[in-house]
Amino acid sequence: MMKRVADILKQKHSFLIVSHKNPDGDAVGSSLALYSMLKELNKEVYVENPTKPAYIYEFLDDYDAIKYPVSNAKDVEVVIAVDSAELSRCGIDKDYVKDKIFINIDHHKTNPAFGDINIIEPKAAAVGCIIWDIFNLAGFEISKKTATYLYLSILTDTGSFRYSSTTPKTFYIASKLLETGIDAWWVASNVYESQRFEALKLLGEVLKTLQLHYSGKLAIEYVTQEMFKNTNTTADDTEGFVNFARSIKGVEVGVLLREDEPDKFKISIRSKGNVDVSNVAEAFGGGGHKNAAGGNIDLPLNKAIERIIEAFAFLKKDER
Ligand code: 5GP
Ligand code: MN
Repeated sequence: MMKRVADILKQKHSFLIVSHKNPDGDAVGSSLALYSMLKELNKEVYVENPTKPAYIYEFLDDYDAIKYPVSNAKDVEVVIAVDSAELSRCGIDKDYVKDKIFINIDHHKTNPAFGDINIIEPKAAAVGCIIWDIFNLAGFEISKKTATYLYLSILTDTGSFRYSSTTPKTFYIASKLLETGIDAWWVASNVYESQRFEALKLLGEVLKTLQLHYSGKLAIEYVTQEMFKNTNTTADDTEGFVNFARSIKGVEVGVLLREDEPDKFKISIRSKGNVDVSNVAEAFGGGGHKNAAGGNIDLPLNKAIERIIEAFAFLKKDER
């Protein structure tokens, strides 16, 4: 399968790259790595996303190349979706890809293989690792710019090489990327140490909402429309907030509820160790990975919190 994709990258001439809405570092990094490599191979290539990528990625050379929303109109031979657990998440219409080669590259185990060609590797720490494999197999030389995008993808999706998805291979790929001369600190500092002052003020408000359940195994926190208004912030400013809920000693599951519209919450779920949260996320109309998943609840705050507490009742099981 990978060989087939490598051949398509070599042989075809025009490409559209898409990734999931509200793209994270893996989605942005994987998209731009493909974009940058294909540009260097003198191909016609476009990048689209259902939504505007968050401002923290503005430091990237090709940030402005990412157009939104997805037009479903670009006349290309090949469409590639990266890091998109479902077709609906990347904004592609079935009709639009009918007469095109549609490639689906992902690492979500819940991905239903919606492409004509599917490379789904749940063990890959980031989609960037899969793309590195494809480039490697194709024999492409990886430029410093392309390497920077792949590094962003891997750095962010492994939580800076901390998550259990991090393997010797992850470090091997990272070391190959560093050999191209990329500046690891430049990437990390732009992503993690370039916060807006207002975003930290919002974090202060969110931390005040932390609550524990099931003898401290479940931590819930939330951000409301009112908090966004009072601190002059938006949903983009909540990147990484859910990790604070999980970071508490003894907590197995951390949840952030984010009120994107009145009484409509995006939920982010993170777990430590063996608790698989992807099933719970699916029950909330979403999905994701074992330790990181998300979904939606359309209910007033108190009811939404109740539903989450109920959904994690299984945490009570091994209580003494
Ligand atoms: P986050 O909480 O950062 O938005 O998402 C964490 C993980 O859950 C990501 O891997 C993301 O792809 C997945 N995820 C988040 N929201 C949704 C959703 O609504 N549907 C699906 N299928 N996956 C989601
Ligand atoms: Mn990913």
